[in-house]
Amino acid sequence: MRPSARQLAHLDRRRLMAGAAATLAFGLPGVLAAAPATRLSAGTFELSVISDGHLLLPTEGLAPEAPPAQRAAALAATGQTGPQFQSPTNVTLIRAGAELILVDAGSGPHFMPTAGKLAENLAAAGIAPEAVTQVVFTHGHPDHLWGTIDDLDEFTFPNASYVVAVPEWDFWAGENAARGLPADRLVFVQAARRNYQRIKDKVRMVKPGDDIVTGLRVVDTGGHTQGHVSLDVAGSVLVTGDALTHPVISFAHPRWRMTADHEPERAVATRLTLLDRLATDKTRIIGFHLPYPGVGRVERKDDAYRFVTS
Ligand SMILES: [Zn+2]
Repeated sequence: MRPSARQLAHLDRRRLMAGAAATLAFGLPGVLAAAPATRLSAGTFELSVISDGHLLLPTEGLAPEAPPAQRAAALAATGQTGPQFQSPTNVTLIRAGAELILVDAGSGPHFMPTAGKLAENLAAAGIAPEAVTQVVFTHGHPDHLWGTIDDLDEFTFPNASYVVAVPEWDFWAGENAARGLPADRLVFVQAARRNYQRIKDKVRMVKPGDDIVTGLRVVDTGGHTQGHVSLDVAGSVLVTGDALTHPVISFAHPRWRMTADHEPERAVATRLTLLDRLATDKTRIIGFHLPYPGVGRVERKDDAYRFVTS
């Protein structure tokens, strides 16, 4: 059968990306420096953090009900003084024996021009999209889910199966997902359903406490979305998704209600439980929106916490 024009375009793009990866293997330091992959290990797992770029978000949307002076100080501490700020998007890649597991798929081509860079940065790290065997979703927001499908409407990771937490799948599929949402957020629901529909024959449903592979465990961190989960890697690293999104506010002011959280009160309770545990255990975290690569630890400070990179 003759390949269609779309298939040809796709092949061309794949060849281009393979070429770019091969070129990089011989060393183009400038390009590599722009697309770093941070590596660490946890038990027998090898982890890399690959950037998907960043989001550009309105500063006024961050904890708008917080005391104004404290809020201004928290934002100033991270240089967020203008009307918009950059929120990094850090995708964790876990090598577990023969499995190559991505935690979230990034934004893809249709969310924001500053994001959707995961495929290029994987190529720069010498990883072909075909090599990814599983994609585990922390939740169904655009910057985590929309990268499932590429600009040619095909699977970005053609050989991958998918893992979704039952409560998250049920939330987006259910009537409550769209209830009371402002018009500009309805697209989130429509796109989540479209993406989930595309993976429905390749998806494995899990619940908190389940292992993706032995030693890689699903942890309930609901509140940011109804079924939001984090991943415990061998008990020594927690991939936190969007349970802790801001390098100052989420740690120093965990009780502030965040606009982006679907269930703000539950998100607060989740943060407080999580921060207490992380500060006690000294578990390393990888935060999806913390300053790249989002790797660090939680320390107690005054009557709250702080994020320490390490
Ligand atoms: Zn996010």
